[in-house]
Amino acid sequence: MRKFEHLLPKEIIKRNEPISSYTTFGIGGKCSALLLPRNKKELVLSINACKLLKKKFQVIGNGSNILASSKDTRRVFIVTTNMEKDIAFHQNSVIVPSGMMIGEFIMWCKDKGLSGLEGLFGIPATVGGAVMMNASAFGVAVFDVLESIEVYDDGKIKIINKEQIDFGHHTTSLLKSSVIILSVEFQLKRLAPSVIFSKIKEVIEKRQASQPQGKSAGCVFRAVDGIPAGKIIDDAGLKGLRVGGAVVSDKHANFIINDGYATDQDVKQLIDQIQFELYTKQGITFEREIEYIGERDDYYR
Ligand SMILES: Cc1cc2nc3c(=O)[nH]c(=O)nc-3n(C[C@H](O)[C@H](O)[C@H](O)COP(=O)(O)OP(=O)(O)OC[C@H]3O[C@@H](n4cnc5c(N)ncnc54)[C@H](O)[C@@H]3O)c2cc1C
Repeated sequence: MRKFEHLLPKEIIKRNEPISSYTTFGIGGKCSALLLPRNKKELVLSINACKLLKKKFQVIGNGSNILASSKDTRRVFIVTTNMEKDIAFHQNSVIVPSGMMIGEFIMWCKDKGLSGLEGLFGIPATVGGAVMMNASAFGVAVFDVLESIEVYDDGKIKIINKEQIDFGHHTTSLLKSSVIILSVEFQLKRLAPSVIFSKIKEVIEKRQASQPQGKSAGCVFRAVDGIPAGKIIDDAGLKGLRVGGAVVSDKHANFIINDGYATDQDVKQLIDQIQFELYTKQGITFEREIEYIGERDDYYR
């Protein structure tokens, strides 16, 4: 029977790897195979190999917006964070591989005097994951400066322009598609590196003041009618609410922290409990922002 070992370089295949090591929640059982492509070509090869072997797969970036099951799974994970960092640029247009960490990319931009993404510094995301989610912070969103994406879809490499993508606050129509992002083009502005660096330092201070340390997936719920979910949860007195190893952060009520031994079930029960409390006592419906792995099985990824 054919295996990944017949189709891919053996250095990029890991067997029985714990997904917990690839998610910021630190939660996730072992997967039958985890693939770590080193460049766009290997990312495409990895996807083709999954299709050929009829394996369900999920491409993830830094795993900072996902909750993986604590149970072992036959699903294959393709993780982009090992991809090489070969950035191409011409004047203010920059093309960056999807697996590069956004913070590292922002520092590269600073050195080149290219500004636009500084507000996102400190988000533990890859560039590809940040595009999928239209990540935003401190008044800056990825789609403010996005130009186009290079994707692998339906066996073909294509360019999709920003105008062809629907996007909103921390969401895009890409999440309902089967595209895999290979690289991303941004259109940035010229600014002195020292000024960009001051902006980055300001963002670091703001983030440190408002966000907790610890294993999490960032904000769990979306804002409700413009009111931050953290404020609603705080006002409802739910800070510190706990199920097993999952606890509502004391510093930011929209963060659930895995304080060392949480399972996905602990987190899910805590989420259900918060939703139940707010719905029954205040009639508020909370929509989840973090993704449960497996819920997109309708799509092939
Ligand atoms: C401490 C902390 C702070 C955070 N702060 C913020 C914040 O300020 N603002 C904000 O917007 N978010 C924030 N987040 C949430 C999270 O970082 C973002 O949603 C981010 O965009 C996810 O990027 P990722 O690379 O980790 O993607 P993942 O979590 O790995 O994946 C997210 C989704 O994108 C898909 N995906 C990833 N890469 C690709 C690809 N190359 N091709 C196709 N699909 C892909 C995955 O399948 C998944 O559906 C925070 C998270 C943490 C843990």
